[in-house]
Amino acid sequence: MGLLQLGTALDWPDAKKNADHVRNWGIKQLLEIWNKAKTKERDALLWGDEVEYLVVSYDKDKPKVVLSLRQADILEALANDSSLAAQGGCTEGQTDGTNDVTSKNPPPVFHPEFGRFMLEATPGKPWGIELKELLDVEPNMRLRRIIAKDHMRSDEYPITLTTFPRLGSPGVYSDPHYPVSGPKLRSQFVPDEIANPHIRFPTLAANIRSRRGRKVEVNVPVFRDVNTPWPWKDPTVNYDLHNWPEDEDVRSGGAAPDNFIHMDAMAFGMGSCCLQITFQAKNITEGRMLYDQLSPLGPILLALTAATPIYKGFLADTDVRWNQISRAVDDRTREELGEAPLKNDRWRIPKSRYASNSTYISTDPRLRPEYFDPELVIDDDIKGELMKGGMDDRLATHFAHLFIRDPIVIFSEDLQTLDLAETNHFENIQSTNWQHMRFKPPPPDNNIGWRVEFRPMEVQMTDFENAAFAVFIVLVTRAILSFDLNFYIPIARVTENMETAHIRDAVLTEKFFFRKNLFNPPSRPSRYGRHRSPNGNSNGNGTTSHRGSPQASGTTTPNPLSRPETPIALGPVEDEYRPMTINEIINGTGHPSHGVKGDSDAESKSVPESEAFPGLIPLVESYLDSMNVDVQTRCQLSTYLDLIRKRASGELWTAARWTRAFVDAHPGYAHDSAVTEQVEKDLVAAVIAIGEREVQGAGWKDMPVEVAPNAEKMMGNFKGCGGC
Ligand code: ADP
Ligand code: MG
Ligand code: MG
Ligand code: MG
Ligand code: MG
Ligand code: MG
Repeated sequence: MGLLQLGTALDWPDAKKNADHVRNWGIKQLLEIWNKAKTKERDALLWGDEVEYLVVSYDKDKPKVVLSLRQADILEALANDSSLAAQGGCTEGQTDGTNDVTSKNPPPVFHPEFGRFMLEATPGKPWGIELKELLDVEPNMRLRRIIAKDHMRSDEYPITLTTFPRLGSPGVYSDPHYPVSGPKLRSQFVPDEIANPHIRFPTLAANIRSRRGRKVEVNVPVFRDVNTPWPWKDPTVNYDLHNWPEDEDVRSGGAAPDNFIHMDAMAFGMGSCCLQITFQAKNITEGRMLYDQLSPLGPILLALTAATPIYKGFLADTDVRWNQISRAVDDRTREELGEAPLKNDRWRIPKSRYASNSTYISTDPRLRPEYFDPELVIDDDIKGELMKGGMDDRLATHFAHLFIRDPIVIFSEDLQTLDLAETNHFENIQSTNWQHMRFKPPPPDNNIGWRVEFRPMEVQMTDFENAAFAVFIVLVTRAILSFDLNFYIPIARVTENMETAHIRDAVLTEKFFFRKNLFNPPSRPSRYGRHRSPNGNSNGNGTTSHRGSPQASGTTTPNPLSRPETPIALGPVEDEYRPMTINEIINGTGHPSHGVKGDSDAESKSVPESEAFPGLIPLVESYLDSMNVDVQTRCQLSTYLDLIRKRASGELWTAARWTRAFVDAHPGYAHDSAVTEQVEKDLVAAVIAIGEREVQGAGWKDMPVEVAPNAEKMMGNFKGCGGC
């Protein structure tokens, strides 16, 4: 694959000179793909997940846990394992193209990641349409973890914490010891060797820094505890370094403000782990629709999966990783940031290249002009090129927005000839636009279709949870297709929601803008019949197309949110949405047949009838009711839905909340926001123990408190399907 090719990577000044060259060729490649694939039809509804891991070196007899930097060795061991390699395991790219999706049980695929202490694993082939297949996801994730562990040293563990709690504190890596402050990152906290040594990664980091004109500034508000000195000065910042010109930034550049944990390198963001889901749509129209419909769900799932309360050895006042990654790869210049008058650069750019989506792309008639951002920055020439090549305005706008960015890593070998059968130049820009959704065109020369990637979720500690969130979003997607749901709100509100999702415990304390009526207006003229045949019309994907309001089959309870008999005339956009808690969004406002115990009862009283909202879980349940699901499958799926339901209601804790409680209760914690080596070691030990219980299938309820206190408050007591 192009991205990890070998070659001569250009330093920033040379890369900058060739930026237009790459963009031009990238556009030509995009048009080639577009023209080849725009009429592709009837692709299967496939999907796949990606789980990212930290590799830690933990020994209960050693004083501290450290990160293992043996990514390359581990990947090599996996690649050399003939029992895996024979079937085509192990190297980046194979799930995307060359992997044999017809082979019955291909082994998982392991991928390198930015951090040398990270791994990524995907299933050996994408999952299919069958609901039954959803039961294979969790065992497959577990298998991936077991295989990964089998190719590590006995003291190494793949763990799914989003961030290593003390990353950036002295001495957190396995030996050999690397001094900090290398030429690429110029960080005062992390060595260059922390990044994957493949030339792409250090170049990415160095060129982002060069383009920006200074180091990245990743400042996270510190959590103020009772003994936290205030104002708080990050005690790990060294104001007396003189290795690089950038060292001046903390002295005179205001890079390390009071009350913020200060970080200065890409590794602090791209060194975090997440859970991503990619869907293949039946055609481009459906892909564009899914991209839009899943967009407003991004911030909701970010808050619901919150798992990132610690940075560089301190408790943060935020719960999720997103903005830290955003800042860690923010290559905008002072001019683009609006800190200096525009002279050399073309635009003020409101967001980092890692940020929530800024536009919608569907041809859906429900997409009102008011939902767009009138200030969206696009490259007009590129849009013109794309439209001249036959692309419609809306999609051309999307790509013309992505293409305002410069290519960061350019290999000189690629600048010789333009290969229209390749996508390297297009992917150069596309894959360094890290938005919360990604619209993935079909790669040339194989049978992959138009895909949409859902990227905001934080990775969870166990595969039970990761499977639950993956399955949940898959089922929401099926409900969207089946019930023709409409989640549109103005894109600016999605951006605001993304910020809200960062607030500590946002899942319980905050409200998010969300669409009130998911069934109006219909995307096409509709019969409005109460069509609810469980085996209804096939839409070509094997999903049932109801084109009507969801109703539990066999249920006589009237659904308060049935689609009205006539479309509601379009009123002001502001009337279409309101602030909702995540509990309302996920569990609904208390429809009698779907009500959950706990908070939503209270909410159903506080929310007037007119503000009733069905909730995503009840919608998913309605979808499942409409399908012929066998008892075993339904039972397992309900353990997943239960986890989501309880996380949303607060009955169960997010990983962020659990981690805070762990630190708070630890005898070594001085209530001064500092997470010591001892606390970190015990925290990682608890995570490892929780994972071991999972492998044993033992559940988490009676875990010894001295190992993993409150485990059941986060995990519940799910033990597979035993209770059904
Ligand atoms: P990236 O890192 O670029 O997002 P990966 O190859 O790591 O891509 O992961 C892509 C995910 O998409 C994997 O889970 C893979 O199984 C899945 N996948 C591969 N092919 C398809 C397809 N045709 N449709 C849907 N998902 C797919
Ligand atoms: Mg991947
Ligand atoms: Mg990748
Ligand atoms: Mg990844
Ligand atoms: Mg991905
Ligand atoms: Mg609050």
